[in-house]
Amino acid sequence: MKRIGLLTSGGDAPGMNAAIRAVVRTALFYGMEVYGIRRGYAGLIEDDVIPMDAYSVSGIVPRGGTILRTARCLELLEREGQEKAVATLRKYGIEGLVVIGGDGSFRGAKVLSERFGISTIGIPGTIDNDLEYTDYTLGFDTAVNTCIEAIGKLQDTMESHERISVVEVMGRNCGDIALYAGIATGADAIVVPEVPYDLSAIAARIERSRSLGKHVNTVVVAEGAMNGDAFAALLKSLVKYDIRATEIGHIQRGGTPTMADRVLGARLGNRAVCLLNEGACDRVVGIRKNEIFDMDIIEAVSLKKQFNKELYETLQMISM
Ligand code: ATP
Repeated sequence: MKRIGLLTSGGDAPGMNAAIRAVVRTALFYGMEVYGIRRGYAGLIEDDVIPMDAYSVSGIVPRGGTILRTARCLELLEREGQEKAVATLRKYGIEGLVVIGGDGSFRGAKVLSERFGISTIGIPGTIDNDLEYTDYTLGFDTAVNTCIEAIGKLQDTMESHERISVVEVMGRNCGDIALYAGIATGADAIVVPEVPYDLSAIAARIERSRSLGKHVNTVVVAEGAMNGDAFAALLKSLVKYDIRATEIGHIQRGGTPTMADRVLGARLGNRAVCLLNEGACDRVVGIRKNEIFDMDIIEAVSLKKQFNKELYETLQMISM
């Protein structure tokens, strides 16, 4: 393979730049030319394409977001949009395409390979950690660390006022950000879409902790389960303590990537291009038990995400 393309699609995630750098540098190692496609599939349809050399990815690893920018693009769902996208690929002689994004982006990649014979490889880039086939997606670790920092600051002020802090975090339909951030900040409870919550049990736990001398409580609510304000209003009817709800919001998407996301981005980006070099197509790369592996795109996106019940039970057992 002589020329490959690279795009980031869907929501941005810290660590995407580390993956971009690894893709470009690995491709150059194999003597391939690399084209960066800006704004995901929208840029592919609109011919927003730039050649990428070794220097074009210098110094990008510490930066959050994606230097290629990203977009959601409904046009790719239609045959006409797909044909325009493929016309751009043919114009530049791009034979293989690396797509960094979530399951939607992977479905787009599959369409391009199945209908038009483009070799595609997917790299999981989303803060939500909502893909079952891989233990971690790029950006998840950084997003959770951002939540940990924000919740820690909230706990400082909430403790001074003896308040309950209800913190809403992202994750779409997946409770992983709430679960990991909750465990890591010693939250009293988490509310996630995967497990029905028991309001009176949470209130009772808060009461018990106060009777044991605690002055602050933290409940982490995943956006896919409920709005933080709504949960705070419900809890208010059962406890006498002052409650403040905070939505961490888009801060979770930004910031310099953690070591875990930088290294994961490098490993996934490297493997993606190694696969293209070996003639593979329709694959996604992922990490399982700290090993990088690859599997069929469609098989990967059809796996239903399983919630980590063991970690959830641990949180239940070790909070007061
Ligand atoms: P995130 O998890 O961050 O939301 P994602 O990749 O799942 O990332 P989506 O918005 O679902 O985000 O998909 C990104 C883009 O992929 C869409 O805007 C569209 O261009 C393309 N896409 C999604 N689903 C399909 C599909 N079934 N067929 C063709 N293209 C698709």
